[in-house]
Amino acid sequence: MNKKYKVTLIPGDGTGPELVNIVKHVLEYTGIEIEWEEVEAGESALEKYGDVLPQNVLDSIRKNKVALKGPITTPVGTGFRSVNVALRQELNLYACVRPCKIYPGVKTRYENVDLVVIRENTEDLYAGVEFKPFSEEAKYIIQKSNGKIFEDAAISIKPISTTATRRIAEFAFNYAIKKGRKKVTAVTKANIMKYTDGLFFEVCRDVAKNFPQIEYEEKLVDNMCMQLVQKPELYDVLLLPNLYGDIISDLCAGLVGGLGVAPGANYGDGCVLFEAVHGSAPKYKGLNKVNPTALLLSATMMLEYLGETEKAIKLERAIAEVIREGKVVTYDLGGNAKNYEMAEEIIKKLTK
Ligand code: NAD
Repeated sequence: MNKKYKVTLIPGDGTGPELVNIVKHVLEYTGIEIEWEEVEAGESALEKYGDVLPQNVLDSIRKNKVALKGPITTPVGTGFRSVNVALRQELNLYACVRPCKIYPGVKTRYENVDLVVIRENTEDLYAGVEFKPFSEEAKYIIQKSNGKIFEDAAISIKPISTTATRRIAEFAFNYAIKKGRKKVTAVTKANIMKYTDGLFFEVCRDVAKNFPQIEYEEKLVDNMCMQLVQKPELYDVLLLPNLYGDIISDLCAGLVGGLGVAPGANYGDGCVLFEAVHGSAPKYKGLNKVNPTALLLSATMMLEYLGETEKAIKLERAIAEVIREGKVVTYDLGGNAKNYEMAEEIIKKLTK
């Protein structure tokens, strides 16, 4: 008798709802019974409830402890904060995990990439502590800068704490052990930001001492970008503060075939939220063109988290087989299939 799980489902914006429907449909064929509690966040929630992140979304995730989310559009440069950032902060989803692995058949310049980006999710320049030009706070900081900042500057604060760094570093090393990984590489720009990024390295180094079975190294983020482009096969688990983590995870998605195949999860102490790395790709909305793989792979991570490892492996294999055959795949994988057609092909492999 299969277990029944209750999971919060957020369809999201743009191409999100079509991808979420596909995932729901495919998961029905895994034999795992999931009761979805659907709630709205983002543009649709703003239209209906006047709020991009209504309270019932947070309540639902807190209650069910597991959520699957489609991408949500963030209007650029307006007063709205990113729903994604707010969700991570509200629910204290401090660890963002993004596995990047090449599936044979995917179009990429590389071979043999299999790394995981672990990104601190709650602080750094994404903490949301920003001051407008000429605000009292901006004026105060400018005055303290001894002429280093123009008087009409806007200011974003970059907090990096021992508490949050220790938490993410311990998560990364424990993750490495659990997944049989060998090396953790911490990445910052500590040569320039000596206090904030310097602290990040210092704490990671300290945590590393408790995990002697895992190799630990440090890299500067600019060098890391070049290293990843030239020899990504040398890296295993990357551990980064929020901003670098965001950028490097898109770079790593590019190494393994693009955003269409890059899954992710955000872990906290109480709840976990699974989502693709990609955004809402609004220009493709309603065209059924975008690749469902990223969100499907995020769902396999969710099945694994729920303890359904065997089913997760089966689903991942079915996805991998369809990609390898390359016959019924979306445009980004060199095909011309609609995303629901690719999903049906995955179901065929899953149920054969
Ligand atoms: P995006 O990831 O939505 O799209 C960038 C490009 O990547 C697309 O034009 C497309 O070519 C490709 N792409 C994305 N997803 C794909 C898929 N599944 N299959 C194939 N190709 C895919 O990035 P963007 O255009 O910078 O952002 C659009 C919106 O999404 C913005 O409002 C942004 O803030 C938001 N966003 C949300 C999340 C999230 O919800 N977690 C993450 C990133 C961006």
